[in-house]
Amino acid sequence: MNNFQSRAGGWLQIDLPAIAENYRRLRSHVGRNVSVGAAVKADAYGLGIAQVAPVLHNAGCRHFFVATVDEGVVLREHIGPDAKIFQLNGPMPGAENVVLAADLHPVLNSREQIAGWRHLAKQQGRPLPCVLQIDSGMSRFGLSEADIRALGADDALEGLQIELVMSHLACADEPSHPQNAAQLSRFRALRAHLPEASSSLAASSGIFLGPDFHFDLVRPGYALYGGNPVLGHPNPMRNVVTLHARLIQDRVIEAGTAVGYSARFVAQRPSRIATLAIGYADGLPRAAGDIATAIHPARPDVKLPVIGRVSMDCMALDVTDLGDMDLPPGTCFELIGTHRPLDDVASGLDTIGYELLTSLGRRHHREYIESSL
Ligand SMILES: *Cc1c(COP(=O)(O)O)cnc(C)c1O
Repeated sequence: MNNFQSRAGGWLQIDLPAIAENYRRLRSHVGRNVSVGAAVKADAYGLGIAQVAPVLHNAGCRHFFVATVDEGVVLREHIGPDAKIFQLNGPMPGAENVVLAADLHPVLNSREQIAGWRHLAKQQGRPLPCVLQIDSGMSRFGLSEADIRALGADDALEGLQIELVMSHLACADEPSHPQNAAQLSRFRALRAHLPEASSSLAASSGIFLGPDFHFDLVRPGYALYGGNPVLGHPNPMRNVVTLHARLIQDRVIEAGTAVGYSARFVAQRPSRIATLAIGYADGLPRAAGDIATAIHPARPDVKLPVIGRVSMDCMALDVTDLGDMDLPPGTCFELIGTHRPLDDVASGLDTIGYELLTSLGRRHHREYIESSL
């Protein structure tokens, strides 16, 4: 740990070569004719788009997905003009000019968004690139069957250069869910009424539903960042994120002594309690007490419970089971990482790893690992 990191309370390591390796793993999982894009919305799932996007670009990725126009504008500063940036939410009314100026391809989800983009194409006097989204059963984004019929009747796609037709799966993380096959066949059926263009349906979990779901382009996000795309099975991806919380002080308390706000935790035995410098302002939910566990790197076999209410800037860890092990101030405990897998931590907290990643606060000292050891 260098001098800069010595100040850290929370220490977040992001393994960039592991992201590149995960990109290559997904690429070798799909056929040669299938391109692998990358979802880098929400600041690359909280990991830092400025650092993550160039790594994916170097690994060969040329299709990037962001949610908002602002994210696309920032991403364009970090990757070359040879990469396509697709903006998933589509432009808000009046934002079309910004989308064009940053060379983004908007995903047009509604007849209104199509009309807005066509209007700009007409002003520009040339067809403008874009993506059409179909609602294949998630009722969130995209054109309905009635919309598609109406488009055909009004020639409403004139002036558009349609690069991609896409849809999104609601239940891909449950391979046996009947909605997967239903959405696949609905996507195929509706897609046939739209102009010829590349097609895309699968994100991380959809990739593992088999080649029928791959079409021309897959759009993983979570799996690139080490999340398990096949829940309940061994994770085929490499771990990317390690979160350490560092010890401020520790104490020994008698049985019957309370710990933390609301005195919610009361020791049942003489206990050794460590105060760690991460709290809910850093993305660890307030309710993680009595649920989450951490490990000391020298004793990964001993799960140490987070106890009581997590505070804004700190939390309490019951380290009794480490005995009288020397724990000097600054000692690191792993909260997320190879010993505490992201998906396990999240499911214990009744959420998903996506939410944990995107909630990681701004206060951690971030260390970007640049090359594999
Ligand atoms: C977020 C998102 C993705 C990536 O999803 P993951 O599950 O993280 O792989 C792909 N497509 C769309 C439309 C998305 O919103």
